[in-house]
Amino acid sequence: MYLLQVYVTNASLNINRPFTYISDEKIEPFCRVKIYFHKAVNNGIVAECEYTDKDLTELKEEMGYEPLKILEVIDESPIISKELFDLAFWLSKTTVSPFISCLNSMLPKVLKTSLKHTEPKKESRFHKIEGEYPFTKRQQEVYESIQEGMLASQARKISASIVAKLLSMGALVEYKEETSFINKEIDPSSFKDLTAEQENAYEKIISTDKMVSLLFGVTGSGKTEVYLHLARYYLSQGKDVLILVPEISLTPQMIQRVKERFSDVVFYHSELSDQERYEQYKRVKNKEVRIVVGTRSSIFLPFSDLGIIIIDEEHDQSYKQDNVPCYHVKNVAFKRAIDHSGKVLLASATPSLESYTRAKRGDYQLLELKERINHSFPKIEVIDLNQQVRNNHSYIISKPLKEEIEHCLANNKQAIILLNRRGYSPIVKCAECGSTLMCTDCDSPLNYHKDENILKCHQCGKIYKPIKVCPNCGHKPLLYYGFGTKRVEEELHALFENARVERMDRDSTYKKGAHEAILKRFENHETDILLGTQMIAKGLDYPDVTLVGILNADAGLMHQDYNSAKVTFDLLMQASGRSGRANDQGKVLIQAFNPEHYAIKAVINQDYNYFYNIEMNYRNKTNYPPYSHIVEIVVSGNEERRVLSDVNYIYDLIKDLSFRTYKPYELGKIKGSLRYRLLIMDKDLLSMLRKVHEVIDSYIAAKKNSHVKIDVDPLYLE
Ligand code: ADP
Ligand code: ZN
Repeated sequence: MYLLQVYVTNASLNINRPFTYISDEKIEPFCRVKIYFHKAVNNGIVAECEYTDKDLTELKEEMGYEPLKILEVIDESPIISKELFDLAFWLSKTTVSPFISCLNSMLPKVLKTSLKHTEPKKESRFHKIEGEYPFTKRQQEVYESIQEGMLASQARKISASIVAKLLSMGALVEYKEETSFINKEIDPSSFKDLTAEQENAYEKIISTDKMVSLLFGVTGSGKTEVYLHLARYYLSQGKDVLILVPEISLTPQMIQRVKERFSDVVFYHSELSDQERYEQYKRVKNKEVRIVVGTRSSIFLPFSDLGIIIIDEEHDQSYKQDNVPCYHVKNVAFKRAIDHSGKVLLASATPSLESYTRAKRGDYQLLELKERINHSFPKIEVIDLNQQVRNNHSYIISKPLKEEIEHCLANNKQAIILLNRRGYSPIVKCAECGSTLMCTDCDSPLNYHKDENILKCHQCGKIYKPIKVCPNCGHKPLLYYGFGTKRVEEELHALFENARVERMDRDSTYKKGAHEAILKRFENHETDILLGTQMIAKGLDYPDVTLVGILNADAGLMHQDYNSAKVTFDLLMQASGRSGRANDQGKVLIQAFNPEHYAIKAVINQDYNYFYNIEMNYRNKTNYPPYSHIVEIVVSGNEERRVLSDVNYIYDLIKDLSFRTYKPYELGKIKGSLRYRLLIMDKDLLSMLRKVHEVIDSYIAAKKNSHVKIDVDPLYLE
């Protein structure tokens, strides 16, 4: 008989230990089994399997209960490697989250949920035949949004009838996976010769003894080209390569460049269907493909021998998962690089404060690309919106911005207009003295809520009646600011009647393939002005873009979050980097109410170090990261009395320790669930984690049942 240690996969997620079961046959570890658990059929995953010559009676005596027999073995072979199984443990320790939720977030859905494992059927895909077709506008759109090799079922979701038309016209061919249109040769001529700076970085990354390198390269300095050369090198060594990007749909050009060089690449991201994800997972596992470009979750793919993990835009917030387990991809990348003796390359034009600090200290190898490939930086100017308002000009598209757009259109160039929506809710400014209406208790700006016609402090929740005169200067009327992309679009149409304007925001891109279609039209210069939210700030590399206008540039600075200056700085630097990337001189206009803010000044001078020094000084004084670590504990539930008592239970266990601790603080309700937050801060992350684990263990032992979410080093605080 065999004794099994089984983790129950769909049991109450608080249980963090295996249960003992028995089986007549030997079962390989990391296969799933069906078991009885709490009188119901459940899935479990076998962690250990050990032969015993004892019989049931003996076992019962020894254990104090009679172990149950497993009901069925689900998998023929392990669904996960030992490395990844152990990684789930590590993840559970470092993020203080239940082991099973860690394991689940590492596996493609097909593997974690199905009770009975079935091999998904092979689905057909579409191959695009290039040519001239008499497409209607809509047909053209659909054709463009279908990517080469897209699953037929996915493409039909865009429009089944148009897809049928395209098939009948011969523009698409349907094929099964076995047929391959892919040419597996790498085309060496498609690789650009590296510049001296790029070459230097490339050589040093390959040859260093340090595990981590930071490539600090200004926008347009050719970082992507360095990644591609590195990928080629590690592939030639027979190793796997992972390139992480913040959001796949926003980087069609990067994908294009990778596809040109390496024809067989896995693109792994959330827009894939469950089945597609599973197929790609298997291709990596079977070593059919050794280079992956993907978003956060691709860090968990079953690579066999990782040569390098490249994290593009390493500062980006999308690398942190917001729900349990709240992991940061960088930490997982370091762990996997250790396990594989591989390397990690962090790259950014605006590195995170932590990475840059570590690199300066020598923990990471620091490499800089200071030159743009075209040797020309855009000219950046700031427009003081207070002045625009005083002179009765529009504060949406200011007078100077309007003139620049006219100039840009007259030269047949393209413009990108970015509306910073972070901290979007309208704030109240005096048109005369420029002061912002603040909460009397919090030093936080009041937000105008139109539906209820009230002013509200988002920090403490205090409500104020709308005020008609400025408390600072007297009698002038106050203005309520705040507008969305639709409003800007209307204004652009009104100002530039003949310009082709396109909007890219969440509303206009919810359909699959919409991002690509919009960007394709912009690339083909079928659009003159691309207006959008944060989505358009990253990665775009279009030679005809000579103007970038940033509206509401400092909206995020009004928020009290400790990280808001950095996030604003990153966004503005990224967005400015879109202008003048080819032969023409670029221009950037930044509209702001706080033109003197150091984040804005740093962008105007394109001076990361200026920003870094001021920001680090502030972090040091306030003892925020990277000078300390934060553990955020959010307790939530539906019943006020219980949530309060549970959060105070935790607070009582931590408040007298040596860490800096904040009292329970009420966060806004979410879907009727009351939420309280506790914060603990300290330099010593390990001892903080150890304590939090202890606290959570006693919380579970005390049978408290309000939901607890733990976030180690959150990137922002609500
Ligand atoms: P980054 O990722 O740093 O913003 P990119 O890699 O997008 O910069 O490079 C900017 C532009 O310069 C791209 O159009 C790219 O094709 C081009 N480029 C990059 N490296 C080279 C090179 N060595 N020779 C010629 N062009 C290059
Ligand atoms: Zn307040």
